[in-house]
Amino acid sequence: MMELNLKTLTVHAAADLLASGELTSVELCQAYLDRIEDVDSEVKAFLKVDREKILAAATASDKRRASGEELSCYDGIPVGIKDCIVAADETCSCASKLLEPVVSPYDSTVVSRFKAKGFIPAGRLNMDEFAMGSSCENSAFQKTFNPWNLECVPGGSSGGSAACVAAGEMPISLGSDTGGSIRQPAAFCGVVGLKPTYGRVSRYGLVAFASSLDQIGPMSHDVLDAAIVLDTIGGGDENDSTSLPMPCEGFAEAVKAVKGQDLQGVRVGLPKEYFEAEGLSDSVKSGVEKAVATLKQLGAEIVEVSLPHTKYAVAVYYIIATAEASANLARFDGIRYGARKEADDLVATYFKSRGAGFGEEVKRRILLGTYVLSSGYYDAYYLRAQKVRTLIRRDFEQASEKCDIILTPVTPTPAFKLGEKSDPLQMYLSDIFTIALNLSGNCGISVPADICAETGMPVGVQFIAPALQEEKLLKIARIFELNREIKEFAPEL
Ligand code: GLN
Repeated sequence: MMELNLKTLTVHAAADLLASGELTSVELCQAYLDRIEDVDSEVKAFLKVDREKILAAATASDKRRASGEELSCYDGIPVGIKDCIVAADETCSCASKLLEPVVSPYDSTVVSRFKAKGFIPAGRLNMDEFAMGSSCENSAFQKTFNPWNLECVPGGSSGGSAACVAAGEMPISLGSDTGGSIRQPAAFCGVVGLKPTYGRVSRYGLVAFASSLDQIGPMSHDVLDAAIVLDTIGGGDENDSTSLPMPCEGFAEAVKAVKGQDLQGVRVGLPKEYFEAEGLSDSVKSGVEKAVATLKQLGAEIVEVSLPHTKYAVAVYYIIATAEASANLARFDGIRYGARKEADDLVATYFKSRGAGFGEEVKRRILLGTYVLSSGYYDAYYLRAQKVRTLIRRDFEQASEKCDIILTPVTPTPAFKLGEKSDPLQMYLSDIFTIALNLSGNCGISVPADICAETGMPVGVQFIAPALQEEKLLKIARIFELNREIKEFAPEL
């Protein structure tokens, strides 16, 4: 079999190898399984991998291909799935003890759309419990380590999804992004992470954290793969009334047509508030500056824009997200789902099951959310936060009159060390550049841009486009990717 460099192998490259007959799906999947065997004892991205099942699906794919039947060019390519997105007959624990015994009887829409194109859902990926966190340290089962430096966190909550792609254990994966959980770990691990416009991708089968903010999206080695995944999983779905009933395809074609051309006439907005933020590190600042220089060289016009309500975004997010989480997580009571701790009566059973099942951060969020929704505080916190949310959305609308795309840092610092952010508030502040666009609904993508000279850790930049303008977002991100100074991002591991 040919030598594969899994740390950089993209879906589109793998599809070409499968089409030319140079590679079979069994060989491809076996290579990933071997890589998992080699490195996952150190990275710990996976909660579960079912080797037999993956190889059986790969064998079936090879048969389909050999029979000459018409199939998608991606048939036989594996994809890692975050453990809060259900797949039939697979566990879905959300990295929580409470849901540890749960096996899903059905496929989420995203998983069934992957399967329809022949992709092989392969493995359940570690995350912060119920997607609450920024470092993967809140998983009830294991910590995941950053493939670039095993002393550092991979980011969160989709830390397993980012780490497995960076480490070459999967070509692509799915994450979910409520306040930055795709883009932040992507930046920490040197991979691409896309948060689509709210409603682009069905949430059916995604365990809800904050329903008005959650979006599923891809983590990948390059922007073209992100476009391929969006084409695959996006589009309206009658099982999710918040999904947008419009087609979501043609992105891969649009991105493929990009051949490193210039950015003449494109106005790139730099929001001044993002660069005045406290705690912005020199390495991230310099990564963004280099990206700005690249974009300028390509002919883009750099303009300053203002997003004046940025300073409220973290506070607003932690009111709205916790309020929604407290309602969404009420169903996990040990009766309907998951691990039950028997007690004398029903109420005691609820208390015991939820008390033992939820971790500390999840309980903190439920308490906060219940508080801001309680009578007497509803107007002061929740209602006011909703009003500020509207102002944050308006900021983006006004900025989009002055520019075509916005460029920002993804995180204040590159990946930090495990245990470094033990104070929850400090952890919350690491989302400062990502959460505003969950509140506004815009789409955004994190693209690797630089490697910090002192620490050797990757630095990402974030492009932000107005709602439903993924095509423009992906094309500009692709032009940047093809022209940035560092061509390939791969850890030594
Ligand atoms: N880190 C943020 C939080 O803890 C965002 C999480 C997410 O996007 N799922 O809520």
